[in-house]
Amino acid sequence: MFDSLRKKISNAIGSIVKSEREEEQPTVTESNTAPVQAVEEERVTVTETSSMKEEEEEKQPAEEKNEEETVSENNENNTAESESAENAGKEPLIEKAKREEKMKISLSTRLKGVFSKEVRLNEADIDNFTGELMLTLLQSDVSYETTDKFINSLKETLKNSAFESRNIRRGVSDCVRSELSKVLQEGMPKEKLLQMVRNRLKEGMKPVSIMFLGPNGTGKTTTMAKIAYMFKKNGISSVFSASDTFRAAAIEQTSFHAAKIGMPVIKGSYGADPASVAFDAIEYAKAHSSDTVLIDTAGRQETNKNLLNEIKKMERVAKPDITIYVGESTAGNRIAEQVAEFLKYIKIDGIILTKLDCDAKGGNAISLSDVTGLPIFFFGTGEGYEELMEFDPYFIINSLVPE
Ligand code: GDP
Repeated sequence: MFDSLRKKISNAIGSIVKSEREEEQPTVTESNTAPVQAVEEERVTVTETSSMKEEEEEKQPAEEKNEEETVSENNENNTAESESAENAGKEPLIEKAKREEKMKISLSTRLKGVFSKEVRLNEADIDNFTGELMLTLLQSDVSYETTDKFINSLKETLKNSAFESRNIRRGVSDCVRSELSKVLQEGMPKEKLLQMVRNRLKEGMKPVSIMFLGPNGTGKTTTMAKIAYMFKKNGISSVFSASDTFRAAAIEQTSFHAAKIGMPVIKGSYGADPASVAFDAIEYAKAHSSDTVLIDTAGRQETNKNLLNEIKKMERVAKPDITIYVGESTAGNRIAEQVAEFLKYIKIDGIILTKLDCDAKGGNAISLSDVTGLPIFFFGTGEGYEELMEFDPYFIINSLVPE
């Protein structure tokens, strides 16, 4: 579901530790020049902590001692050769051996120092990485407001963090995860919603009414059926109010779902007052001791003032206990604007974001709650009744950021 965004975030994290692959090279050989590059690249990417430098300096005398030992061994073995080479006007073998050994020692020490100590990311690398990540998030429909907040906070965290040099990628991932958890708001877990309904029923507030609203075609009727199906599976009965009396075939569609799930539907004729249909459904539920009334409404754009005023009347008459905005994920950042406009007319308790299965970007899931201040109740992930997924911030973080 979040595959594309995960890949991009993973690439962005990967770019900051581009030399990590070299880091994994186990040993340094005299003839191999790759480790030299590894060290140099690592140095470009990370800034050594002062403690690292100090330790490296402390190690120096011991290394020199080692070096001397090795060299003296070589010395014994190669004196004759050395002399003959010297005589031939070439670099004395002893000098060559000494130079190569020194290089070997120096390299391995530097590698050890770089690889086993903590490192800090330098500012340029942090800027490059967060710049790339910012672009990725914006292109994936995460709102500007949320992205900006997240990136600024992440920059601070990265600046103040030291990472184990063997695990830079992991360290950066952890920072991204923790910052992401700050912008992801709590959702409405299924159990919490069921408990809320049960509590109201216990308090004698029967039936509990839930109204679904949002633009046309976002999946209101389908989502309402999914909720009814979930309620039924959990022992909560429902009645449908087919209050979309505007769109051709909407009443038939609601009736179709009601028949499939096995529940009553109250309908009027096309063009009838949707609020009066909702009122009738509530009366029916009272008379038949149904636990909940699920009220469908006609799709309306946030720009249509008449229809937004009509929803106000629905609210006055049906007095819904819970109002849910149904928006389709593929609408991108427009959803936040739509919700803001609806909120001028009616109280909304939460959002169901449908068609996440069709949304290659998926960034809405990150920022919608943050921007609207409303919890996401569920994601719609397909057309089937079971395809309703809880909004779980930790699931999202795990889906987006590699460990
Ligand atoms: P309404 O006009 O808002 O009531 O929207 P509908 O419930 O009629 O749904 C419009 C279309 O979207 C239908 O074909 C649904 O099957 C489809 N739909 C609804 N939710 C989802 C979802 O989560 N994923 C997918 N892929 N399709 C959905």
